[in-house]
Amino acid sequence: MSLNKYTQKRNFNSSNEPKGEMEKTGGELIFVVQKHAASHLHYDFRLEMDGVLKSWAIPKGPSMNPADKRLAIMVEDHPYDYKDFEGVIPEGNYGAGKVIVWDRGIYTLAEDSDKNGNSFKEDLNKGHLGFILKGSKLKGEFALVKLKGKQENAWLLIKKNDDFAENDDVLLQDKSVISSRTLEDLV
Ligand code: MN
Repeated sequence: MSLNKYTQKRNFNSSNEPKGEMEKTGGELIFVVQKHAASHLHYDFRLEMDGVLKSWAIPKGPSMNPADKRLAIMVEDHPYDYKDFEGVIPEGNYGAGKVIVWDRGIYTLAEDSDKNGNSFKEDLNKGHLGFILKGSKLKGEFALVKLKGKQENAWLLIKKNDDFAENDDVLLQDKSVISSRTLEDLV
């Protein structure tokens, strides 16, 4: 786990994104989903692991419908502090555009992983992560599954069939969970 790539891509004199450091919380593990209107709109899905936020960019956003398999491109680790970042990354910067905290909460390992005594890191290396989200919008069990034989960083985010699964489009809930603002409300 390292923040080198994160730091290299950014100019902290120009962007107000957190510089951040590796941080161990020791408490419950958090997740955050940021809605990001960069050159292409996407949702950044981040899971706390070993002091950083493992991150995937999801062009179509997460879904609560198990029939949807959403492409998730793994991107560079982000600092733990990034979980609170909401605002506008100025023109000329990496990822320039508006960001809101679309959802956040805590997560736990799915029972399968727990039972086998696998660490999250092992599951990450194996390309299959199972976890349970307790967010404001995203709830219940999900899996991130690495695509084999495709591009190196391509994964799928899939909702498992449980009591929280539903057909309604969760993306219609478009407000920030920390400020109640939509992306359009940001200036
Ligand atoms: Mn992004």
